[in-house]
Amino acid sequence: MSTLVTGIAELVTHDPSLGTLSDAALVVDDGRVAWVGSASAAPAADERIDVGGRAVIPGFVDSHAHLVFAGDRAAEFEARMSGVAYDGGGIASTVAATRAASDDDLRARLRGLVAEMRAQGTTTVEVKSGYGLTVDDEARALRLAAEVTPETTFLGAHVVPAEYAERRDAYVDLVCGPMLTACAPHARWADVFCEPGSAHAFDGDEARAVLTAGRAAGLDLRVHANQLTAGPGVRLAVELGAASADHCTHLTDADVDALAGGTTVATLLPGVEFSTRSPYPDARRLLDAGVTVALATDCNPGSCFTSSMAFCLALAVHEMAMTPAEALWSATAGGAAALRRTDVGYLGVGARADLAVVDAPSYRHLAYRPGVPLVRALELGLG
Ligand SMILES: [Zn+2]
Repeated sequence: MSTLVTGIAELVTHDPSLGTLSDAALVVDDGRVAWVGSASAAPAADERIDVGGRAVIPGFVDSHAHLVFAGDRAAEFEARMSGVAYDGGGIASTVAATRAASDDDLRARLRGLVAEMRAQGTTTVEVKSGYGLTVDDEARALRLAAEVTPETTFLGAHVVPAEYAERRDAYVDLVCGPMLTACAPHARWADVFCEPGSAHAFDGDEARAVLTAGRAAGLDLRVHANQLTAGPGVRLAVELGAASADHCTHLTDADVDALAGGTTVATLLPGVEFSTRSPYPDARRLLDAGVTVALATDCNPGSCFTSSMAFCLALAVHEMAMTPAEALWSATAGGAAALRRTDVGYLGVGARADLAVVDAPSYRHLAYRPGVPLVRALELGLG
């Protein structure tokens, strides 16, 4: 079953040989892009979808999200907006609610958020554990996450749970031992909240232990790094060859040099700075140094509860001096790089047919019209 998608006023491919096309069409066959070109030259297909003069972009790749949780932290958000500082401590309330929730409750929330993302143009999402913090609860979170995405991340080292507050070493041993053993079969990635600036998170030595154990268990690495302070996270991520260092809000020159000289993507999460009234990361400094930059939501119930990549893209343009083209690339191809995926984030021949339609003649409207729900995943109705 092949589908011709036509009536595309502007097609952003992120394929260097194709670029951005006007009056374009695209053929999808068996879930992959089979042909791209001018609408006037389009071949026949089994079915035809006319998007009516709208823009088509690669579906967003949200490479950083925490979607397996229960509970509600609107009151904490309100307190923060009244001047209480964010330090990661509120995660404990989500942990308590998540442990108490049934599988079905967690699954319903998770699937609801994934559907909410898809309705806003996100076609690939990474999902982390990190609100269970026991062997069984972390493994459960990853089993559920694996039902909705192959991009599953073990984040047992999200925070030190309250029952281990006086025994941090024992918790790190648990994460690196039985918890990792139970979780690795359901995870592609291992992650750690490396943040010496938070009493709840992990310092450089603890983070190194977690990441090294994760790699030994066959997982690839990503790191929550340099969110609250210029700590060791970014350089550790680069040293260990992590796919991504996420947040990168507080960077030294040595951090930027390390990222520029390595293969680790810098994933910026400006929804967090927006939602915690914090200074934004310096995207221009990274881009000018030649660092690969991704944008993601960090959708989570505490520090940033948005599922909208378009909103994060608009923040990147308005608050971080990225151009609309740079921001779109980072929200799609950049996310793919952060997940080491070569089949998403672009719309060249052979790519997954993950298309998003913008209800406007150009992708520029995503930043030009912030907050307006313009973009959705295109449902091809194959088969
Ligand atoms: Zn996060």
